[in-house]
Amino acid sequence: MRKPIIAGNWKMHKTIEEGEKLVNLLKRQLYDLEDIDIVLCPPFTHLAYIADMLESSNILLGAQDMHWEDEGAYTGEISAPMLKSAGCKFVLIGHSERRQLFGETNETVHKKLTSALNNGLTPIVCIGENLKQREEGVTFALVSEQLELALKALQPERLKEIIIAYEPVWAIGSGKVASSEQAQEVHRYIRDWLSKNYGLSLAQEVRIQYGGSVKPDNIAGLIAQADVDGALVGGSSLDADSFCAIVKIVRDPTS
Ligand code: PEP
Repeated sequence: MRKPIIAGNWKMHKTIEEGEKLVNLLKRQLYDLEDIDIVLCPPFTHLAYIADMLESSNILLGAQDMHWEDEGAYTGEISAPMLKSAGCKFVLIGHSERRQLFGETNETVHKKLTSALNNGLTPIVCIGENLKQREEGVTFALVSEQLELALKALQPERLKEIIIAYEPVWAIGSGKVASSEQAQEVHRYIRDWLSKNYGLSLAQEVRIQYGGSVKPDNIAGLIAQADVDGALVGGSSLDADSFCAIVKIVRDPTS
């Protein structure tokens, strides 16, 4: 049984004060939820403050990106040991906005994933096709390539330490969520790919999140799918009521 995981990606939203306000509201509404991983990924500047606020709570901290080197002359970058010391347990890697706007490649995703694991962070590796690729029918080929290059030479026993986020680019921030069937089809493909490359029992342990316009009114159908283990939530994570509603539906779909 895979533990569900919901992560909120705040992107470049909220000042520290606004972030603290949101965290207080989330703590109040989510404090008693167990058997689910709840992760917040605020901007870098907020991490240490929010880590303090989340101490001894059931909400975990993640970052939105990292550099693959531990330290060095990389002005403006943040490394895995720095994230670790700021209180992070998770880090997003290869988000489509990083790929589209900031030159992230499958090669840098691989280097970041390796560094995250070596430094005790859980990478949430984002993959997914854009609209043109979906229309051209190359979604599975693209997802395979992204997986192959990101996980290259990953030791099988480390597979369960990573989380995969399937995020169709056409669904991110667009309000156009993938249908539950579309999501399940690709999630199943990803698990089959993992099974082919690492064996069925290891593949069964990997959590695969869906991301792309998740909202309280569409999460139930998505989480009911056999291979959907949670969600990576952008816009709806900026509003306490929406994010809490999503978390609660995933925790207890019958509620
Ligand atoms: C995201 O940024 O990963 C995302 C899924 O955004 P949204 O929920 O706003 O589509």
